[in-house]
Amino acid sequence: MASKLIDAISRTLPMDEGQELKQINQIIGVFVNKARQELKARWDQWHIDLSKNEFYEVVGALLARQVTLATQLAENPLIWNGHIAPLILRAMADVYISLAWILKEPIDRSRKFVLYGLGQEKLNLEHRKAQIEKRDPTPAEKIMIESSEAWINSQRFTFLTEVNLGSWSGISTRQMAEEAGCIDFYNYVYTPFSACSHSMWNHIARYNLRQCLNPLHQYHRCPYDPEMPVDPEYLYLAGKYLQRSFSTFDESVDMKIEGQSAFEKLCEDLNQLNKVSDES
Ligand SMILES: [Zn+2]
Repeated sequence: MASKLIDAISRTLPMDEGQELKQINQIIGVFVNKARQELKARWDQWHIDLSKNEFYEVVGALLARQVTLATQLAENPLIWNGHIAPLILRAMADVYISLAWILKEPIDRSRKFVLYGLGQEKLNLEHRKAQIEKRDPTPAEKIMIESSEAWINSQRFTFLTEVNLGSWSGISTRQMAEEAGCIDFYNYVYTPFSACSHSMWNHIARYNLRQCLNPLHQYHRCPYDPEMPVDPEYLYLAGKYLQRSFSTFDESVDMKIEGQSAFEKLCEDLNQLNKVSDES
């Protein structure tokens, strides 16, 4: 794994292998720690109103999810490439648009979010039960069904009795982004990364085809699975979307967090890394 990583990195940055790996590991470690600290700092400062618990849990979980996606990407440099990084970044775009939209009408929308998720879980459960209808479930299936039922029943939100199960936001992601004032994010992040997420032609034709070398074949393209260089730009983007999620949250709930953010530190470190690799 380490040598594969060194190979991949040395295709990108012409530096001394050992030193480079050490430096990148350090940047990752600092970023991951700071990102988690930032999440904790916000949660600690937030005045929680338990009568509206759904809002705090939904927003808290979305911010934590954003930290998870960013830190998982950070800790796996072998996926900092056009094959896989966009899958994670597109998921971060989803989280950001949901968060920004919910923050505009916190109670109503966080309830919708919970209800939709519970509805989906119930649907999964029904599908699973239907699948094994005509026989006894295996012990593993029994555990799975019971734990899903227990999880659904453990959701103690008072509003659950009043509302019927509908669709999540009732509108498209594009409309959500428009309403939340982040259509730029939809156009420049969500949509372009969708091509990779859904393995659309405009992604796979670029990443998984190459021109045939046989001149008699009229330059048709053949399938391939190329190794890609490690590109720290993807880590930068993950940090950027995390920062934007935190900022949108801070603005919405009027919070101020002191000190250098994970993203600011990451920018500083990546600049330093570029400088060193330029010099060598
Ligand atoms: Zn050919």
